[in-house]
Amino acid sequence: MKYVVVSGGVISGIGKGVLASSTGMLFKTLGYKVTSIKIDPYMNIDAGTMSPLEHGECFVLDDGGETDLDLGNYERYLNVTLTKDHNITTGKIYSHVIAKERKGDYLGKTVQIVPHLTNAIQEWIERVSRIPVDDTGLEPDICIIELGGTVGDIESAPFVEALRQFQFRVGKENFSLIHVSLVPLIHGEQKTKPTQAAVKDLRSLGLTPDMIACRCATQLEESTINKIAMFCHVGNDQVVNVHDVNSTYHIPLLLLEQKMMDYLSTRLRLSDIKLTNEDK
Ligand code: ADP
Repeated sequence: MKYVVVSGGVISGIGKGVLASSTGMLFKTLGYKVTSIKIDPYMNIDAGTMSPLEHGECFVLDDGGETDLDLGNYERYLNVTLTKDHNITTGKIYSHVIAKERKGDYLGKTVQIVPHLTNAIQEWIERVSRIPVDDTGLEPDICIIELGGTVGDIESAPFVEALRQFQFRVGKENFSLIHVSLVPLIHGEQKTKPTQAAVKDLRSLGLTPDMIACRCATQLEESTINKIAMFCHVGNDQVVNVHDVNSTYHIPLLLLEQKMMDYLSTRLRLSDIKLTNEDK
């Protein structure tokens, strides 16, 4: 199983969901079976009780799970059917650990965020990523994990720490990370400082970006790409331009043109995955 984490820096709502679904869709066009998990670092158990004015409409899954709208994006882009377990919230994971504590699963131990909550997050991801989600009924090859919120917030800290440990648990060739950042346009100039700061925050928490997807009102200039690559310690081919488009259905093509799949295929050694005949 290969895992692709999509995290975000600078501000929320910069298009992590759309980028994560588009990346999944491109993997699917290569013949891989793709699933997805959305992490929402809020204390609500699910989105059912949240105001649609604040978070957009709640998306109802086939099993009755009331979730974030992003799960709807995944179902449409990837043609899959997800379950309520494909959406992890802070509320859900804490309830899970507290229920285990009451059952006596940790008897004698002091239950802590690290390692008990972080282990529970990793176990949850491993378990749910293996659930068949399409009509083949087979285990997926690739799992896209979208981490909601912004890296560096108190809210997402246990999830970031769990993912930091997870990269060692599953191995380097099975884990990659795309960090979505903002490049604001100030007086016509593309500013890279917020992205530099966001990547610095990410690295300080033990996560290294394989790709930095930059959301900008206009197409990234060559000099902006060079600057981000140099200051964020990545190659030019690891900086992806995601400028504003009229329809978010253009995003997969935008990513394809920039050869994002070539980089990720090599990085994740996708050639190791045996495609079944009908997928080829
Ligand atoms: P996040 O997951 O970071 O909260 P979303 O993926 O939900 O962000 O996107 C937030 C909003 O921005 C959505 O309405 C989405 O359609 C829009 N959006 C995302 N990427 C682009 C883009 N490249 N151009 C125009 N609109 C976009």
